[in-house]
Amino acid sequence: MPNILILSSILSLLITAYPNALPTDITNGIRTDPDAIRAASNDYGNLVHQVPSAVLYPSSINDIVELIKASCCNYSTPFTIAARGRGHSVRGQAMAGGGVVVEMAALSRNGGGIRVSWSRSLGYYADVGGEEMWADVLRVGLEHGLAPVSWTDYLYLTVGGTLSNAGISGQSFRHGPQISNVLELDVVTGKGELITCSRNMNSELFFGALGGLGQFGIITRARIVLDKAPARARWARLIYSNFSEFTRDQERLILTNASNYVEGFLITNERTTKQWRSSFSSPSHQSDVASLWKKHRLLYSIELVKYYDNLTASTIDKEFGVILEELNFIPGFIFRRDVPLVDFLNRAGNLDDGREELEAHPWLNLFIPKSRIHDFYDGVLENMIPKLRKTPGLFIFYPLNTKKWDSRMSAVTPDEDVFYNLGLLHSGRPNESDVFELFNNQVLGFCEKAGIKVKQYLPYHKSREDWIKHFGSKWSIFQQRKMEFDPKMILSPGQRIFN
Ligand SMILES: Cc1cc2nc3c(=O)[nH]c(=O)nc-3n(C[C@H](O)[C@H](O)[C@H](O)COP(=O)(O)OP(=O)(O)OC[C@H]3O[C@@H](n4cnc5c(N)ncnc54)[C@H](O)[C@@H]3O)c2cc1C
Repeated sequence: MPNILILSSILSLLITAYPNALPTDITNGIRTDPDAIRAASNDYGNLVHQVPSAVLYPSSINDIVELIKASCCNYSTPFTIAARGRGHSVRGQAMAGGGVVVEMAALSRNGGGIRVSWSRSLGYYADVGGEEMWADVLRVGLEHGLAPVSWTDYLYLTVGGTLSNAGISGQSFRHGPQISNVLELDVVTGKGELITCSRNMNSELFFGALGGLGQFGIITRARIVLDKAPARARWARLIYSNFSEFTRDQERLILTNASNYVEGFLITNERTTKQWRSSFSSPSHQSDVASLWKKHRLLYSIELVKYYDNLTASTIDKEFGVILEELNFIPGFIFRRDVPLVDFLNRAGNLDDGREELEAHPWLNLFIPKSRIHDFYDGVLENMIPKLRKTPGLFIFYPLNTKKWDSRMSAVTPDEDVFYNLGLLHSGRPNESDVFELFNNQVLGFCEKAGIKVKQYLPYHKSREDWIKHFGSKWSIFQQRKMEFDPKMILSPGQRIFN
């Protein structure tokens, strides 16, 4: 436990040398016991383990302000600080080796940090604590008949955590990522200042923090756009064996805007056909899909949703039929459901209950420019994915519209109007992760060699050069904002951009 000893001595030094540096309520919230340290040294990826010196369980936003001030301003040697939402990063991005991790969940009041309002100029919105989970935003919103418009596939992620990346799902083609649906933020910067910002007020901080990988401050409140919540989701999965037809239909769907949600995934093995069946269609459908898979060895599925409510219930069949008529899926290979909105949005459930701690998740998420998607198909989907046939994992694949992203924000996309998101969501035992790491590196290597300018989403880069390449033309502004808002480079060191 040398790190704990170091922090204990840092803290006792702080307290004796600077009696006003750390108020007693912070020292009360600081934990250095093995349980707290262990939890903050791991994440969903279970691949990177960085041991912090201590963990702060803040009881108020002021505790966070005081902790950052103690590091940046009251003490000659700054220590690093990372906000930890729920630790759903996969490569240590919410860790702070040797520093202090802030367990944002300690602030959570089980949805109590969510306040719904309306104003003439803004319409409906919710002021939400950065520590709150999207599942709670949904629950509280629905109590008012309202809901956010842009989601992630999984709802047990924090608002501060997804807004530090982008927050994408099948609604993003229509409404943009979650960062495009934020009106205002409160951020505690790396200088220990609590600043309210928006498009028109302290806008550098606002644009910097959205997609900013935690580099400029800790988001303590986000004002999120709400809209009237639809009652139900008409939901279909369609199967394709031809990649060109699959992508042509996905692109048509996001351009016509007739549906509310468009995603897709690859069916790479029989196991996928079974998983897929269990949540959707009947056993006979499953054997049909399995026989089809045996013939083609790689299938594609579009997932499509149209929302409706009491007023539109009488026309939903017709409207949904019109959308489907345009599409070229394999005749008969359409599977439908009709569920309440909440069942659709919360379709993944809470994966954290009883999660297998021994599992590792060496994920790779890529944004691929549309103009090169067929080259990507030839190199990766046709030639490389089949090598993973025996391994579990989910491969998500769907297109997004760049015009729904705000280029002033820190999040990075390819330089084209449409790009595809491919999520290679591998899972396995930690000692199997080398296989996936090798595979991921081969995919990246192929793109590099073929000149396909992909961008990583939830990025992980090992060198400063790779980060500069990742941000491209945004690098200089990203660096300037770092100098302005976190000049001592204290925050989110686990992203490994400046630390
Ligand atoms: C099962 C699963 C499904 C997922 N599905 C999707 C999906 O559909 N779409 C999608 O976009 N993403 C998805 N993700 C990825 C997810 O968006 C990221 O893991 C994200 O980091 C949110 O997780 P978290 O809230 O636990 O944040 P953490 O992992 O704890 O933190 C992420 C980063 O943000 C920083 N941070 C955390 N809180 C704050 C804050 N309040 N202010 C400033 N910085 C902060 C941390 O220091 C860290 O650098 C998924 C992840 C999992 C595990």
